[in-house]
Amino acid sequence: MQRYILHIDLDAFFVSVERLLNPALKDKPVIVGGSETRGVVSSCSYEARAYGVCSAMSIRQARRLCPVGVFLRGNIQAYIHYSNKVTDILAQHTPLFEKASIDEFYVDCTGMDKYFDLQTWATGLRQLIIAETGLPVTFGLSVNKMLAKMATDAAKPDGFLMVLPERIQEFLDPMPVGNIPFCGPKTQKLLHTKGIRTIHDLRQFSVDALRHWLGSAGEALWHRAHGKASDVIVPFRESKSMSCERTYHNDISDINTLNINIIKLIEKLAVELRAEGKVTACLTVKVRYSDYETRTCQTSIRHTAETDYLIKIALQLFEKLYKRHKPVRLLGVKFSQLADEKYINDLFSNTARKTNLYKAVDNIKHKYGDDKLTLARIV
Ligand SMILES: [Mg+2]
Repeated sequence: MQRYILHIDLDAFFVSVERLLNPALKDKPVIVGGSETRGVVSSCSYEARAYGVCSAMSIRQARRLCPVGVFLRGNIQAYIHYSNKVTDILAQHTPLFEKASIDEFYVDCTGMDKYFDLQTWATGLRQLIIAETGLPVTFGLSVNKMLAKMATDAAKPDGFLMVLPERIQEFLDPMPVGNIPFCGPKTQKLLHTKGIRTIHDLRQFSVDALRHWLGSAGEALWHRAHGKASDVIVPFRESKSMSCERTYHNDISDINTLNINIIKLIEKLAVELRAEGKVTACLTVKVRYSDYETRTCQTSIRHTAETDYLIKIALQLFEKLYKRHKPVRLLGVKFSQLADEKYINDLFSNTARKTNLYKAVDNIKHKYGDDKLTLARIV
């Protein structure tokens, strides 16, 4: 059966949300990301791009290129809110979709062409997203993920392009080889020495030639130049919260032991959180006393997966919650308002560094056993 994949990408997403919240930013060169002088550009408006600003460029350089730009730190809560709005629409109106990032989705439309005209259907979906969110969005529809995404890139901003099977080579051939995913500057340089500049040029060579120059990467490149790529959609699965609790054989009244048990619960759950690639924005602590009286206390926090920060907040919550000298039968912790860490790391690179450090520790624990590395205060 012919596969059809739709790629959806919100245009200059962070900037578009900022403009919804503050219409005075419309038509201005807006740059989101980093701090005053540090960090990198997460998102920039098309007006800023006209000055040569682009994503992943240092803020310092962006300021030099675009001194009249409006520089914003970013508001991740608002971005997640709008991303979830789009997610909800897709959950309601599509059979199967993947959330590739905060502003990017793939929808599997295979088989739908029997019942609908795909162009009409996709146009309707696009209008619905625009009407319900107010955000500009670009659609690309083709037979696999790579081609759908390339169609989106060609249609940006605020557009829709379909690349049907019979038009694939016509679509690809005039493009520079650098447009092929994973064809980085080094590969491009090598291809240029062989006189290959466009995808059409590349297709004049055999797969053996490409393999000879670039190994298995060359073979993959050759297939992509012929429009062959993955069409596997990873279904979107929402995990809204995760929790961990423990009932103790003997009731506990000692405050130090209780604190240590809270720390252990957080440590365990934080490993799970990071393993799922998530961050949490809400922390709950639960206590059940020996008489079965059960209390919880929760608080909103900045998005994080950092154990030390989570422990600090959990101990504060427990302190608030705990009635002195009452024996405790059960302790629990819960993380909710989960989001993908990649969304957050886009915006706050310092958090990424620390989370990666914790992940390294998680790996050591996994390899050598849980007791080899732990926070100093438990030991
Ligand atoms: Mg985007």
